Amino acid sequence: MTSRQIAILALMAVGLLCAAGIYYFYDPSLDNFFPRCPFLTVTHLRCPGCGSQRAIHAILHGDLATAWHFNAMMIISIPLLAIYTFAEFTRKRFVRLYQALNSPSVIWTIFAAVMLWWVGRNIFGW
Ligand SMILES: [Zn+2]
Repeated sequence: MTSRQIAILALMAVGLLCAAGIYYFYDPSLDNFFPRCPFLTVTHLRCPGCGSQRAIHAILHGDLATAWHFNAMMIISIPLLAIYTFAEFTRKRFVRLYQALNSPSVIWTIFAAVMLWWVGRNIFGW
């Protein structure tokens, strides 16, 4: 790992800790300073990310069931984001993992899952 990558990881860690602090101490359901979803505001339909802020607040308080209720896709994507971050920073060492995660079939599968989630949550209330 290069010193540049270490610096980027350190900045990401600081950013994540700051965001976690904000989402721990402030409830997006109650506090108005959190940004509202522009897609929801304009269309009155939920986007794939709607409920993520409330889900993060619930996770940080150990309430996984409530977090799942607010946005299940966000819960599922957390380990996926961790794997992608790991693969990005170790792509020279684990070339096959990086290539597999960034293959067109995996990218299209993720895209299809997000589209299915987007449509499904507005039709079936997921
Ligand atoms: Zn939204």
